[in-house]
This record gives sequence, structure tokens and C-alpha cells, in this order.
Amino acid sequence: ATPTALLVGTGRGAQLGVLIKGPEVLESTRRIDTVVLDKTGTVTTGRMQLVDAHTDGDTARDEALRVAGAVENASEHPIARAITTGARQEVGELPEVVEFANLEGLGVRGVVEGRAVLAGRAALLEQWGLRLDGPLAEVKAAAEADGKTAVVLAWDGGVRAVLVVADTVKPTSQQAISQLRELGLTPVLLTGDNSAAAGAVAAQVGISEVVAEVMPADKVEVVQRLQAEGKAVAMVGDGVNDAAALAQADLGLSMGTGTDIAIEAGDLTLVRGDLRAAVDAIRLSRRTLKTIR
Ligand code: ADP
Ligand code: MG
Repeated sequence: ATPTALLVGTGRGAQLGVLIKGPEVLESTRRIDTVVLDKTGTVTTGRMQLVDAHTDGDTARDEALRVAGAVENASEHPIARAITTGARQEVGELPEVVEFANLEGLGVRGVVEGRAVLAGRAALLEQWGLRLDGPLAEVKAAAEADGKTAVVLAWDGGVRAVLVVADTVKPTSQQAISQLRELGLTPVLLTGDNSAAAGAVAAQVGISEVVAEVMPADKVEVVQRLQAEGKAVAMVGDGVNDAAALAQADLGLSMGTGTDIAIEAGDLTLVRGDLRAAVDAIRLSRRTLKTIR
């Protein structure tokens, strides 16, 4: 039978905005010493905006925006939403994309008005034997040093533009992370985004351990590695790409504002998507278990 205190703890969690899958979940929070946090949508709002577009000498800005907006129109990724919305605002209606492919953790590919298009991380360019250099490489480096995400746009075998997308840290993230530290927990930022952007966000919220440029399928391995080092790991995430890591973690906390797949994979749901609720949940379980023992 489940001790009454655990059931009470579960009910108290609901008042704090934390949905707990079962009373036994509170037990597993006890040993947690490491909290792995996904960046986009978890520490940041995930509401990205298109803030800049730079083209090579031969490509018109409008053309770059039309093509990028069109190819990203078929993707649900927050970066894609930002590019499509920003492009529409500047150039109006967007052309169709055909032969669309989502390249998980890298970007997108498709055909727009006869052009074979790639949009995403610079690593994507390797598929076409291209690399980013010259002024557009400088645009990318400057954007990333500033914590922004650079999206490289290429078509028909040439790099055409770099679009800059920016996200903002949630107003409550910094406070939540300092509270995690006060509880004796070590926060680790985990993201598929580039190291510079990850480092800039980490610095803003006070995280010193960062694991960046991690492919979606490899997030789970980062959790496993920490567990192999003897850590008891909580994972906080919101995306499809976080689901396996949420399930692998000793405690999976999903953002109520995130995808259904992530919510399904977690043990706890932070209803409002506010990281401070993760701190409340860990405090609650410690108190609840003290009552029992
Ligand atoms: P995160 O781990 O921060 O939630 P993802 O694993 O979804 O991010 O993506 C990793 C990186 O891949 C992004 O930071 C971005 O550079 C690139 N990327 C992913 N999807 C897209 C897209 N639709 N358009 C452009 N770039 C993308
Ligand atoms: Mg995410």
C-alpha cells in the first residue's frame, strides 16, 4: 500500500503546478544530485524570432527569405516557425515546397521553385561538400557568440545566406537554477545547439556545465554517461528529441508547454513550463519522505 504521506504529497504537487504520474515517483527524487536541462523550450522560451538575414553578394534578401520561409514552412521546429513567420512579414506569400525532409537535429531539406534547398546547421553543408567561409562565416560566429542561432541557407550547390534567429531565456530560469544549487544539485545544460549559443545561455542563468552540439538520439547517452559516473539524474525537457532522455533519467520532468511525446515520457509534468516548479517538486518530495521516515 502507498503511504498516505505520498498521496498527500501528490495532491500538494498539483497545487504547486506539478502533475505527478504516481505516488512512487516522489521516492525516486530523493537521491537526485544532478539536473540535466534541455535548453530550447526549457531554459529558454523557445519562442524564436528572425532577427537578421545576410546574403552572399549575388542573392537578394527577399529571395533568400522567400526560399528559407518556404522550406521551413513544412517544419514544426521553433526555429522553422520563426523563419516562416519572419519571412512572411517581409515578403508576403511564400512558394510551395516539395520533396521536403526534416533532418532531425540538423535542419531541413526541400525543393522550392526548382531549387534544391538546405537550411540548418553549418554541419549540413558537408552533405553537399560545401563549407561556410568568408563574410557569412563571420556573421555566423558573431551571432553565436551573442547566444543566437545561425541558420545556413544553401541551394543548388552554393551557400546563399545566413539567417539569425534568437530565443530568450525565461524570466524565471535564473532564479530556479540558483534554487537548484541551494538544494545541493548540479545543473547541466544539454542542447543540440552550437557551443557558443549554449555557453551564452548558460552564462545568463548561472550554469557552468554545458554539453552542446548533441544529436537528438545522443541526448539519452549523455544521461547514461552521468549515471555510469554514479550520478542520480533528473532530466528536464520539452521536445520530441528529449523523450528518450526523459525516460532514461532517474526522474524525468517534462514541460507542460512541450510536446505530448515528452509529457508521456516524463514522471512529472511542470504544468506552466516554469522551471521553479521543478525546484518545488524536489523540495516537496524531500519533505514528504521525511514525514514517512
Ligand atoms: P535543442 O536541443 O536545443 O532543443 P534541436 O536538437 O531540435 O535543438 O536542434 C539542434 C540544432 O539543429 C538547432 O539549434 C539548429 O541549429 C538546427 N536545426 C534543427 N531544426 C532546424 C530547422 N528546422 N531549421 C534550421 N535549423 C534547425
Ligand atoms: Mg527543447
